[in-house]
Amino acid sequence: MTGPSQWRRRQQRLAMVGEVCPHCSARLFPPRDVCPYCGGPARISYAMGGRGTVYSYSRVMAAPEGFDNYAPYYVALVALDEGPLITAQLTDIDPDDVRIGLPVEMVTRVMRQDGERGLIDYSFKFRPILERVTG
Ligand code: ZN
Repeated sequence: MTGPSQWRRRQQRLAMVGEVCPHCSARLFPPRDVCPYCGGPARISYAMGGRGTVYSYSRVMAAPEGFDNYAPYYVALVALDEGPLITAQLTDIDPDDVRIGLPVEMVTRVMRQDGERGLIDYSFKFRPILERVTG
């Protein structure tokens, strides 16, 4: 069974769709129906570019159940280019490279998989934007 609301949630996760407020132009993520900045209704879908910088971060030592393969890992507060601050796990990153101000980009990853029921939970993570080496 896949209803419209499920489809919407899935799209929201995979494409990182937020909303833009028609009153004050604030970019909102995750989507919420009321703009937290001006209090007006904000229901216009807006696809985030998926790029930002690390605003703050913390190293997580104790992995929650189901995340054992990923411990330890880094959870960062990422400032998106569009403005919103979101919390996400960092991936594909050397611990020595984790720093505030690091440019990062969104990637979609499988967060956990329930083998018995065949459920796959997708979510987004952020990885460093690598400088292209030319010449
Ligand atoms: Zn607003």
